[in-house]
Amino acid sequence: MRYGYVVEAAEQGNTRYRVAVAPGDLRLVQELLNTAAKDDGRDPDLLDAAALTAQWLRAYGIAGDSPGVSDLRTLRDALREALLAGDDHAGTPRVTASARLVLDAGGAVTTEAPDSLAALAGRVLLAVRDAQLAGTWSRMKLCRNPACRVAFWDSSRNTSGVWHDVRTCGNVANLRKSRARRAARAQE
Ligand SMILES: [Zn+2]
Repeated sequence: MRYGYVVEAAEQGNTRYRVAVAPGDLRLVQELLNTAAKDDGRDPDLLDAAALTAQWLRAYGIAGDSPGVSDLRTLRDALREALLAGDDHAGTPRVTASARLVLDAGGAVTTEAPDSLAALAGRVLLAVRDAQLAGTWSRMKLCRNPACRVAFWDSSRNTSGVWHDVRTCGNVANLRKSRARRAARAQE
């Protein structure tokens, strides 16, 4: 299967967070999710400042001053909210997008390379839909650490991963837990 530009595009969100990357077009979805800033303020929102947004869009062949950045941000934030809420996502805002589909010479259905932010949003939603139909969407997760919330691809056998990196976020949580246990014991 060909995934075209997505694999070749410079990854800026996924790369800066050094996460396990999702397969196929889900990589684009994950990349969009990881344009979000972290709470600590060290990693900026890549779809906020104009220069950063332009750089991110250039990697997908879209002009930096294209209209619709706020719509793309709305889509990203809605997807993040849905992932955080799990099964209980009645509060996720409704977002619409459309993609141009192509039946290619080999008989495969692909999306046309997006030339606008609206088309990019369409490709993102289509990739989410494909994953939902295939039953793999549950592997796209946001890190359980509230200060992190990086989007990672959980490739564990039973889809039980909760940290984007067990050595960092997982360790911090374990340390906090054992400290709390020690403090509780000290008070006994
Ligand atoms: Zn994390």
